[in-house]
Amino acid sequence: MFYSRYKELGEEFAVLAEPNIFTQSEVLLINEQLNECTGLKWQSEEVLQYLSGQASLPDCESVSLAYSGHQFGHFNPLLGDGRAHLIGTFTGTEGVEYDIQLKGSGATSFSRGGDGLCALGPAIREFIMSQAMLSLGVPTTHCLAVLSTGQTVYRQGHVPGAVVARMARNHVRVGSFQLLALKQDKTAMSELLELCIRDSFEDITSQGEERVYAFFNRVCQAQCSLMLKWLQVGFIHGVMNTDNTLVNGETIDYGPCAMMEGFSFSRVFSSIDSQGRYAFGQQPNIASWNCARLAESLLLLCESEEEAIERFSKSLADFSEAFNQGYRQLWQDKLGLLDWNDEDQSLINELLELMTTHKLDYTNTFAGLTAHTMNTLRDQYPLANELGNWLSKWSARTEQYSKDIMINTMKMVNPALIPRNELVEEVIADFYRDGKSEQLRDWLIALKSPYDYRSLPQKWLTPQSDTTHYQTFCGT
Ligand code: AMP
Ligand code: MG
Repeated sequence: MFYSRYKELGEEFAVLAEPNIFTQSEVLLINEQLNECTGLKWQSEEVLQYLSGQASLPDCESVSLAYSGHQFGHFNPLLGDGRAHLIGTFTGTEGVEYDIQLKGSGATSFSRGGDGLCALGPAIREFIMSQAMLSLGVPTTHCLAVLSTGQTVYRQGHVPGAVVARMARNHVRVGSFQLLALKQDKTAMSELLELCIRDSFEDITSQGEERVYAFFNRVCQAQCSLMLKWLQVGFIHGVMNTDNTLVNGETIDYGPCAMMEGFSFSRVFSSIDSQGRYAFGQQPNIASWNCARLAESLLLLCESEEEAIERFSKSLADFSEAFNQGYRQLWQDKLGLLDWNDEDQSLINELLELMTTHKLDYTNTFAGLTAHTMNTLRDQYPLANELGNWLSKWSARTEQYSKDIMINTMKMVNPALIPRNELVEEVIADFYRDGKSEQLRDWLIALKSPYDYRSLPQKWLTPQSDTTHYQTFCGT
């Protein structure tokens, strides 16, 4: 049932590496739904044994994957899993394959002086965020479980260590292709391409170079959809390096990520992103830039560079066009505009300017407009006074519409509940203090229905008092 599928790509690509054995480990969080619906169906003893390194998966050899990456625009030829072990792959329900990877499971040949470990806080964050993102409708890698290691790690001081068990359709990054291009390893790259097509773009039937072009086109589409989803829910990834970009378009590496609260396209949370390269509104440009780096790598598989550049450029242009269309549609839907007229762009711009000027909460502003249209929960999502005259313009513009259709449209794209940063921090503090969090259970259940407008505890809805000071950190 379990197998190792990256070995075929060569021992430099998938380097044999044993995870640490944590004998004092305990399972702190487990995603039971994921365990069930993927067909994994592990008993609690199996969870503990396999994810703490105490037992290896049957028929599997654990590996760390090599990859290159552009980090903040600078190329690093050899990154790789510095603190992660891919312990195996299994074919689950409906033939879907899932990799199981441990993060924080010890040093590897790619650790570059790092300790290979993970602190408890970021592990908890990854568990909450990946689950919330899935329910928000955003393609994402999954977190099966978080385990304590029974050991401490040294960050700003000594803190408890943890292992995150991640599940993903695959772990192929733009940086994986960059590495093989650097090595000029055509055979491995062809195999990697086939693996990605098999996993995510099965319907590609063309052969030869057309297959490469079709693959690239689909990666661009997947990244375009992902960016629109991030924009829709206000997600800021924080470290969109090419090594943190999966070609299948799933969100990966919940490091310094955060949810935008006070609206601004230039909002940044990551402490190291001083230039705003990965700011909220920059993300689509960066995704396209990352796709261009993939195109450069794929040139290795193409006979005529000139033709390949032309075809890849066309896909990148299609990305822009699809994004622009989706972008307009997104704001249109968020405002419940069921058709488009010439003045709508300025109606949208005016709202976004007001939201920026007054740092209005992104989620609650649109939830407020939705609740206002539903004529319910108006106290829960009060409309900001600062919207003033704009509200009358919007009301006049939407007066003609069937309220039911408008509500359905708005509810699809305006979440009523998001995983707010301060609450994530509170839950993390609970774990550091008590080794558990009483409040997490109910919150996680609620986060499973983020588009369901119902009465919710105010605490879950209130933005951080001063969002501008919230900062997140990499490599924690
Ligand atoms: P990130 O930007 O968090 O995806 O990490 C960039 C690179 O640093 C990856 O190659 C990681 O495996 C590596 N890395 C991050 N934290 C650690 C750590 N504590 N020990 C070893 N390697 C790490
Ligand atoms: Mg990474």
